[in-house]
Amino acid sequence: MNYWIKRILFFSPCLLIGSFIFAQKKSAPPLNAEKQAVLASVQKHEKELIELSDKIWGYAEMAMREKKSAAALADFAESRGMRISRGVAKIPTAFIAEFGSGKPIIGIVGEFDALPGLSQKATPRKEPLTEGNPGHACGHNLFGAGSLGAAIAIKELIAAGKLKGTVRFYGTPAEEDLAGKVWMAREGLFNDLDVCLDWHPDYENKANMQSSQAVIDYNISFRGKSAHAAFDPWNGRSALDAAELFTTGINFLREHVKPGVRIHYVFREAGKVPNVIPDTAAVWLWIRDTKRSGVEAVDKRMRDIAKGAALMAGVEYNISLNNGLYELLINETGAKTLHANMEMIGPITYTNDELDFANKIMKEYGGEIKGINGAIKPLEKTKEDPPGGSTDVGDISYIVPEITLMATTAPYEAPWHSWVVVACGGMSIGHKGMLFAAKALGATMVDLFQNEKLRQDIRKEFEQRKGKEVWKAILPDGPPPVPVD
Ligand SMILES: [Zn+2]
Repeated sequence: MNYWIKRILFFSPCLLIGSFIFAQKKSAPPLNAEKQAVLASVQKHEKELIELSDKIWGYAEMAMREKKSAAALADFAESRGMRISRGVAKIPTAFIAEFGSGKPIIGIVGEFDALPGLSQKATPRKEPLTEGNPGHACGHNLFGAGSLGAAIAIKELIAAGKLKGTVRFYGTPAEEDLAGKVWMAREGLFNDLDVCLDWHPDYENKANMQSSQAVIDYNISFRGKSAHAAFDPWNGRSALDAAELFTTGINFLREHVKPGVRIHYVFREAGKVPNVIPDTAAVWLWIRDTKRSGVEAVDKRMRDIAKGAALMAGVEYNISLNNGLYELLINETGAKTLHANMEMIGPITYTNDELDFANKIMKEYGGEIKGINGAIKPLEKTKEDPPGGSTDVGDISYIVPEITLMATTAPYEAPWHSWVVVACGGMSIGHKGMLFAAKALGATMVDLFQNEKLRQDIRKEFEQRKGKEVWKAILPDGPPPVPVD
């Protein structure tokens, strides 16, 4: 069934019944009137949602600088009758769009920040839009607009008296850097939610069953004494020596950490010229593990290594925290509900032009040509160690139950954070994934609003998985690091 036939099906009541019966055989929750209304709403707003996503794709603004992108999303929500609170958690680009009143309160997050240096046109060959500028290489332009599409569909149902409660869209900036959601979470903005949803662009359609890595991000700086490196080096104390000893220690530590641990660093400062003993040096270091508790164990060793390195080089040292993220807590009950709704909607289908685009772009990149995967992937088993990478959605998942969707917006096994993802996110392959996400998340929200028992079961699983862990923001004191310019 191609995309256009599927669109016609949704508009035709007779055929819709046919597809409804078909869906009934495969999945638990029925395509009831409210879900039909969600699908119709996304269809109705399709053109505007694509325009909104493309606008943000063009702005390509980076963490905490997403002024135009945040305004575009907030203005869109406001023009559709949602109440807006702009600049929440002291972040000018963070906002909340809400509709309805009372319980349940169902939240959905939308990201919109881009990545540096990845500017790219929506073409299947490497062609920057503006050389050196940022680009949406993680598809967050689609993420924000898709989530808002789902929230607006629910808003319309609440306005029509078909659902009771509150829908709340969170405009969450700075995911790629600076941990935007953690600053929002520290203000308690997610505390009263019953359930929260999110999605992420991907090369597969699935209800996410995999966790993510917990991480801590630090700056380790050393301060010594400069001197002429040839004339009187005995008077100098090299901060760079300490930084090198520190990273040597970190690299020896690798043998003694658990397999899930990842440690990576760069030198931020390492002297200016060889004939001056550097009096300052700095290392930017991230420690990741499957669990937050695992990161803490490595953190203690790292601090000893910094102290030892400073002692050996005879210099001062300082460790400053940038931020830290929790691992994502999976909710299987929620994922199953989402999965059933994805099955009900059916796979994403592509035109020959889109398949050609996908194959051409993978060839240009030098990757394997595997087409585009629009199928709904069966629910996976949760792996003991998650795939590499971290997200600030992890922090929300420790505060309230979180359900995450992945939707295909790029060719199969496309290299993420690359120009390939930017190109696909600015054309129909990306748009189709975004619209699919809006429908699947909207339909899942209908279940969450209508089924109290489901909400209770989701909450029960959340409490069990969280156990005794008490969430606490891993952030330095003071306000968020909003750039001044
Ligand atoms: Zn991302």
